[in-house]
Amino acid sequence: MPTPMKISGRSSSITNAFFNSIIPVIEPTEEEIAAALDILQMNPADLRCSYCGDTATEWDHLRPLIIKQRPTGYISEIHNLVPACGKCNQSKGNKYWKDWITSGARLSPQKRGIPDLDERIERLIKYENWKRVNPIDLESYIGSELWSKHIENWQNILTMMKVAQEHAAKLNKIVRDIYKKKLTSEANTEKELSF
Ligand SMILES: [Zn+2]
Repeated sequence: MPTPMKISGRSSSITNAFFNSIIPVIEPTEEEIAAALDILQMNPADLRCSYCGDTATEWDHLRPLIIKQRPTGYISEIHNLVPACGKCNQSKGNKYWKDWITSGARLSPQKRGIPDLDERIERLIKYENWKRVNPIDLESYIGSELWSKHIENWQNILTMMKVAQEHAAKLNKIVRDIYKKKLTSEANTEKELSF
């Protein structure tokens, strides 16, 4: 049986959105894309997942942008992005690629027995060393006043979601109780009619 949906059950996506919304995407140049694909030994006309070799459908962050509900300081720029497939992206989640790729995580390349995994790992290490990217201190870039305002907005929304959930739970119970009462009285009427 399904369980009733909870408004507060959406809090981690809200948190992700709050931090993702302030992380810029730095557009790569044509040369940078060419250099990236060269390191990954990939044909630009046939982009493959860097982790498993399936058809690539997206660009994935080698180092996650958010860990434990806080930004890591890495941003969306070519040196932190590789072509990937949805399966790998889903399986990897917010993990660092190197910890995940040989892990027992569901659908990880290791679990799926990708045959040329060692070469893939080697290319990814080379890619990471192409240009060292260092995490930036978002808070110091933004300044404490603007940063605090953002944290306050985030907290307010989480609190509001909790309040809204408590209210929604009451409404859920009202609907449930009335519906059950109705079922009982209908059953009783049927019983009376049958006599
Ligand atoms: Zn993949």
